[in-house]
Amino acid sequence: MNDLTLFQLALGLEEPWYVSSSTFDVDKKRLDIRIDFKPGSVFRCPHCGREGVKAYDTTEMTWRHLNFFQHEAYLTARVPRISCSECGVVKLQSFPWARRESGFTLLFEAMIMAMAKSMPVKSIAAIIGEHDTRIWRIINHYVEEAREREDHSAVTMVGVDETSSKRGHNYVTLFVDLAVSKVLFATEGKDASTVKRFREDLVGHKGKPESIKEFCSDMSGAFIKGVNDNFADAQLTFDKFHIMQVINNAVDEVRRQEQNERPELKKSRYLWLRNQSNLKASQRDRLAELSLPKMNLKTARAYRIRLAFQEFFEQPPALAEVFLRKWYFWATHSRLQPMKEAAYTIKRHWSGILRWFTSRINNGVLEGINSLVQAAKARARGYRTNRYLINMIYLINGKLNFSLPI
Ligand SMILES: [Zn+2]
Repeated sequence: MNDLTLFQLALGLEEPWYVSSSTFDVDKKRLDIRIDFKPGSVFRCPHCGREGVKAYDTTEMTWRHLNFFQHEAYLTARVPRISCSECGVVKLQSFPWARRESGFTLLFEAMIMAMAKSMPVKSIAAIIGEHDTRIWRIINHYVEEAREREDHSAVTMVGVDETSSKRGHNYVTLFVDLAVSKVLFATEGKDASTVKRFREDLVGHKGKPESIKEFCSDMSGAFIKGVNDNFADAQLTFDKFHIMQVINNAVDEVRRQEQNERPELKKSRYLWLRNQSNLKASQRDRLAELSLPKMNLKTARAYRIRLAFQEFFEQPPALAEVFLRKWYFWATHSRLQPMKEAAYTIKRHWSGILRWFTSRINNGVLEGINSLVQAAKARARGYRTNRYLINMIYLINGKLNFSLPI
């Protein structure tokens, strides 16, 4: 076996293709492998599929291939153009080692896709010595092609939330299949139209809007309107974490208002917001002291209302609404304006809050995906365009099947 046969096997070349030469340039750290086809070979018309067509002329093309140890490797081939007598088309013959429009071999692209899941594109570009736009072109191609083949017909439970895309008020909204924890769709903005676009994308991937029975979101008017307008068969559950956030913000507001006249509240913010199990012993002692009835703190009263609300989620389903009604009465009669307002917010979202006792869904998986997205964004120091960000979200969290050789 000579080195040409070896390269031929390594590249998986089949008739009529063969390796005609290889040149190894030690100074340039470069390996060049030339591929050719046997004279008189016949091909299949890439347009109509007719067999036995001869080459009309040839054109020379070069692709970057996987490094050969520390040496950059390139394939160069004489690619035939076919002139088909059947359909009359003159077309470049396809070749098994690369995509038509790419300057990289399939194996090289497969390596880049594997790296891109865990490394910033700029670092990959630096390692392989290519401009990062060439890397993005590969990522965009495979992600968008894999998404076209996606089948969303089995989706029934969807969680929606936004994530920040750039500094300031730029957002991308994510739609996640809560049953399998994967991003179904990501789109710019965080208004009601994002839900409309999700519906269109779902239909474009064999999904049926009427199959979506459960939606989970925060209490923002945009998502509520979007779900009501586009998913008439879906029940909306408000995400636990976001509901607790409304209550926590109200407790914090009571503390902020009170601490001017009650200096002992200074630097106590986290005592009231964190769960007791996450506090140090000294913090727990201080919290217990501040909570004593003789201290007569409004913040402590607000805190007790918050603790009671947490217990709401522990109730047996049959008693949940009774519990919530009692809690609402307490909060609205607390004479603590922020707590009253939080209670009114709960009241306005009543059925979606109670829905949790039936659906048992929350957006915890979205919080996890969100932090992966933000970590990738930080590593990359931001993305030049939202298309890059969105494709990176699909690459990392979309569980896509790529049509790659490995
Ligand atoms: Zn043809």
